[in-house]
Amino acid sequence: MNTYDIIVVGAGPAGLTAALYALRANKKVLVLEAKSYGGQIVNAKVVENYPGILSISGYDFAKNLYEQVSNLGGEVRYETVLKVEEDKTVLTNKDKYFGKAIILATGVSYRHLNIDRESKFVGKGVSYCATCDGNFYKNKIVAVNGGGNTALEDALYLSDIASEVYLIHRREEFRGESTYVEQIKNKKNIHLILNATIKSLNGTDKLESITVQKEGGEEEIQVDGLFIAIGQDPKNEIFTNVVDLNEKGYILSEDGVHTKTEGIYVAGDTRVKTLRQLTTAVSDGSLAATTAIMEMSQKA
Ligand code: NAP
Repeated sequence: MNTYDIIVVGAGPAGLTAALYALRANKKVLVLEAKSYGGQIVNAKVVENYPGILSISGYDFAKNLYEQVSNLGGEVRYETVLKVEEDKTVLTNKDKYFGKAIILATGVSYRHLNIDRESKFVGKGVSYCATCDGNFYKNKIVAVNGGGNTALEDALYLSDIASEVYLIHRREEFRGESTYVEQIKNKKNIHLILNATIKSLNGTDKLESITVQKEGGEEEIQVDGLFIAIGQDPKNEIFTNVVDLNEKGYILSEDGVHTKTEGIYVAGDTRVKTLRQLTTAVSDGSLAATTAIMEMSQKA
């Protein structure tokens, strides 16, 4: 059996920080990740609100953290976790592992509009990541949907690449920071379409236009790309045998670290919390690892 002191599920900032702390405490650590390391932060063009770091790209932050973990001998395997048992056995699509403690740091995934042709057009005009795909739209026309910080940042980022950017939001007011809203209002090539929702995606083999439902009726807008930035959702249904979820699917924890199952901890965006930021993710990761180590040694 592949036995570890700590198995971390998820290689985002919370999971990698948990691994870093556990490795520095000389524990045998396995990190399981379904896609690629870094989590959501790799999509941030620049991080300027992390204390002590003036400015760093999200990609570089994730790369540095990954290097810290691998330099200490941390093992990261790219496997999809299918089940975590109460006895702390972890079943993946490739293997079976046992951890004395498990830290769930599964983060969140992009929320979808759930309209026709959305999945068909992914990579053919529809994207959830402006910093990943923005470069494909040089001097083209794009739309961004959403009213949070991600949508505002995406619109600003894309306005330096695309010729025109439509920012479509379902309300009058933005949820994101006012500094971004001010910058957007000063950009000549960003056009606000407020109190509006996207009704359909049009095109045959690729996205050609979107139909927007707004006050006064529908409007068809010709676009080459649509960036959907309407928030994220957790994906924790497979863990319901060992954790409780709230109505939105986030993992419940009374103290922000423990779950309902002894030896299974939670960290990062995937838990119920008030602030989902890089700072709170790494804080969660360090606390989960330290708590797990302390409780392991008390039991020994
Ligand atoms: P968010 O803050 O949850 O905003 C999601 C936006 O999408 C909201 O404006 C929401 O509208 C809209 N929306 C949700 N579902 C929709 C639907 N089905 N159709 C149309 N619109 C929909 O998500 P986010 O912008 O991705 O940000 C997530 C977290 O990361 C936030 O805490 C944010 O502050 C943080 N973040 C921080 C930074 C930074 O500090 N630089 C950068 C990016 C993200 P309503 O407003 O009407 O609900």
